[in-house]
Amino acid sequence: MDAASADHTHLWHPFTQQRGWVAEQPLVIERAAGTDLIDAQGRRYIDGVSSLWCNVHGHRHPRLDAAVRAQLDRVAHTTMLGLSHPPGIELAGRLVELAPAGLQRVFYSDSGSTAVEIALKMAFQLWQQHADAPARRRTRFIALREAYHGDTVGSVSLGGIDLFHSIYRPLLFDALRAEPGDAGDLERLLTAHGDEVAAVVVEPLVQGAAGMLVHPPGYLRSVRDLCDRHGALLIVDEVATGFGRTGRMFACEHEGVAPDFLCLAKGLTGGYLPLAATLTTERVYEGFLGEFEELRAFFHGHTYTGNPLACAAALATLDVFEEERTLEHVAELDAVLDEALESVAALPAVAEVRRRGLMCGIELAGFPLAWRMGHRVTLEARRRGAVVRPLGDVVILMPPLAIAACELRRLVDIVREAIIAATGEVALTAAA
Ligand SMILES: *Cc1c(COP(=O)(O)O)cnc(C)c1O
Repeated sequence: MDAASADHTHLWHPFTQQRGWVAEQPLVIERAAGTDLIDAQGRRYIDGVSSLWCNVHGHRHPRLDAAVRAQLDRVAHTTMLGLSHPPGIELAGRLVELAPAGLQRVFYSDSGSTAVEIALKMAFQLWQQHADAPARRRTRFIALREAYHGDTVGSVSLGGIDLFHSIYRPLLFDALRAEPGDAGDLERLLTAHGDEVAAVVVEPLVQGAAGMLVHPPGYLRSVRDLCDRHGALLIVDEVATGFGRTGRMFACEHEGVAPDFLCLAKGLTGGYLPLAATLTTERVYEGFLGEFEELRAFFHGHTYTGNPLACAAALATLDVFEEERTLEHVAELDAVLDEALESVAALPAVAEVRRRGLMCGIELAGFPLAWRMGHRVTLEARRRGAVVRPLGDVVILMPPLAIAACELRRLVDIVREAIIAATGEVALTAAA
């Protein structure tokens, strides 16, 4: 059996209607180099979505490859439950140094979903262990409409994208919902429910999975101030925005915000291996201290938590940020994208282009769901040498930060041509 048929016979892909999947030939990626993916026939495609928003410095980066190999010569995996290891220890120190002030404790896990799930459970347990009875009534969470925090049940409870989340409602806890980008709405919620709220959870600056929904400047700052005023903790989910995506190492830095919990994953290992970290303050950490028999420990941990190979990749990723001055490069790409996207925004099929740093969403204008316009654009882009993946009818552009300016221009050109080809074709079919 060839790879394509074997895929169709045995695999079940994430976020995929398999009936549509098996009707098409799968693109099977065998290798990659820099910002290109290479298929079984040797064809190259620009990795336009950073292999699902996580690749940072490109594929097969010599520094990262060497770091993982060197760790492989020591040990591939050893547990964080009851033991420790050098790359995990060193990485925690580096993350604390980089993170906004006050975040001094690092709790590892393996995905963005678990990073958020951990923040959620820590915040909940912290209030439950509070000495004062009124504080123990803080059991609820405020999340934003259209929020996405991952696919485990706790993270889905915070999620606000009906398409993904509504079917599970009976299974989930009820979060209070605030309007994205509207500080007044959050203030109303906190005024009404403030003393029941354990924490407010936000994706800072940009709600990625919502289709790159960009908040107005100052919103995150207001969220922090409102949390302080109402005694609620602030959980910031930087799984998508972290590690340079918005032009700073963390999106929080744009507004001088230090959260109580910072959730990191995706770019943490440069897109090499699954690793996540939930950073928190000494104040939160101390709320879990006690005598053994008081049972105040945080009873949570995954088998591969803080995997050494992944930590080694993360350490090398942080080194490369310095060596290649990655954030300066992202700043240079800002002007390149501004100019290149003008001709995309001008297309009649495009309703809006939304962007912050290297997170960009191109929203196509009102096509029926059944036409799968975002998907059609993806197929046209693939023919022209780029891999992109849409969110519904929003075409996402989120290349590795290391992409060269000329490659970035080429990626935008390909996507522009792909939109014209896909939407023009449909306009003709509809007219006929
Ligand atoms: C991708 C994402 C997650 C989930 O991360 P996984 O590693 O896929 O579990 C959570 N929050 C945000 C903002 C994300 O973009």
